[in-house]
Amino acid sequence: MRRLEKCASELDFSLADLDSVLVTHEHADHIGGVAALARRYGIPVYMTHGTQIASSFRAERDVEIREISAHEPFSIDALTLRPAPVPHDAKEPCQFVVEHGEARIGLLTDVGSETFHIEQHFADCDALILEFNHDTKMLLNSQYPYSVKQRIAGSHGHFNNQQAQTLLGKLLSKRLKYVFGAHISENANSYHLVQKKLQALLGGTDIQWGIAHQTGVTPWVTV
Ligand SMILES: [Zn+2]
Ligand SMILES: [Zn+2]
Repeated sequence: MRRLEKCASELDFSLADLDSVLVTHEHADHIGGVAALARRYGIPVYMTHGTQIASSFRAERDVEIREISAHEPFSIDALTLRPAPVPHDAKEPCQFVVEHGEARIGLLTDVGSETFHIEQHFADCDALILEFNHDTKMLLNSQYPYSVKQRIAGSHGHFNNQQAQTLLGKLLSKRLKYVFGAHISENANSYHLVQKKLQALLGGTDIQWGIAHQTGVTPWVTV
């Protein structure tokens, strides 16, 4: 909560202005702190049935849970949320395209492999936040136990830089204006390598790009 409040204040944003929280899946780096946030500000939390079960979130008192289907679009005020089921080692994970009027923002992290469905779902976005989790060589040489390396590199783990670059190549469109490389591993990747991949693909185009750091905030952009 302290870290979140600090990040929000750096963006001149008050957490009290949040209307809802969307949870993609039950892994601690995504759901940790959500109950405290929801309770403190009295905001509902959206997640799939599988995520609730796996996180035992239903036992949280004083938190309103709104169950979503990973296959059905839904609305929160003026936003349309389009969830996409993704191959990742969680119970019922989904990632999102968020629409407001004509604008479309895609959030795609925690995805082990590219599917035809994913490519279709995240096409024609104005902005993309895309996982560049690890460099294959750095992961192999990292201190992680072998089983963890297998998990991360597996088809239900995380995108490596090459997978992310390949998918991004397919998602390039005339309307794409911003790309942020995200969910970058501290132990098996470097910001420099991700920047090189983004530069190789987006340098010379009008698309602006950046890195979502593990610590610190990403500046506001207007889509
Ligand atoms: Zn994650
Ligand atoms: Zn995860």
